[in-house]
Amino acid sequence: MGKIIVLYGLPASGKTTQADILCKKYGLFQFGMGDVLRAEIASGSELGQKIQDTVASGLLVSDQLIAGVLQNVKKQATDTGIIFDGFPRIISQAELLDNMLSEIGMKVDLFVLLKISPEEAEKRIDARAVNGNRSDDKDPKVINSRMEVFRQESTPLISRYHQRGAFIEVDGEASIEDVCRQIEKYL
Ligand code: AMP
Repeated sequence: MGKIIVLYGLPASGKTTQADILCKKYGLFQFGMGDVLRAEIASGSELGQKIQDTVASGLLVSDQLIAGVLQNVKKQATDTGIIFDGFPRIISQAELLDNMLSEIGMKVDLFVLLKISPEEAEKRIDARAVNGNRSDDKDPKVINSRMEVFRQESTPLISRYHQRGAFIEVDGEASIEDVCRQIEKYL
């Protein structure tokens, strides 16, 4: 049975970059909530239409909709293990995840905080905005909303996994290879 790993951090802290590398290396299933939601929007699905204004504004999609999306990955958890990137972001989502995992006799094995400063996050988002096509990287108000979600929610979320002995913090401003090595020590 594979592991369940959560990558957490400010926007542009390197969650998806690390998830890409680790999933390929360890055969885990990659679940990037932001990517999944953007794909729903691009497909024009009913869910995509419901969430597009929320995602464009940098606020969180409701737990009810997120819970629906989550059901699709239950089987992957037992088949291969999963790296979650961008989920959970708030306590209620951590509860959703923990409940889903406990139904299949699993738990979060490792919750990784990729620590970068807000200044570094802003710098990276600005750089990504130049070549990328994410509108939420281009509007300072939207960027601020996304950073604010982290400011408000990170402390309780971190303590939840800290108390369980599943929490690690890595220096997200190190090189991509170094960050990966720091995480791999715990796999
Ligand atoms: P990201 O790609 O992780 O930067 O996420 C982009 C946007 O998708 C966020 O600003 C939210 O609007 C939405 N989103 C991503 N993850 C979640 C989540 N776990 N819960 C609710 N909304 C989310």
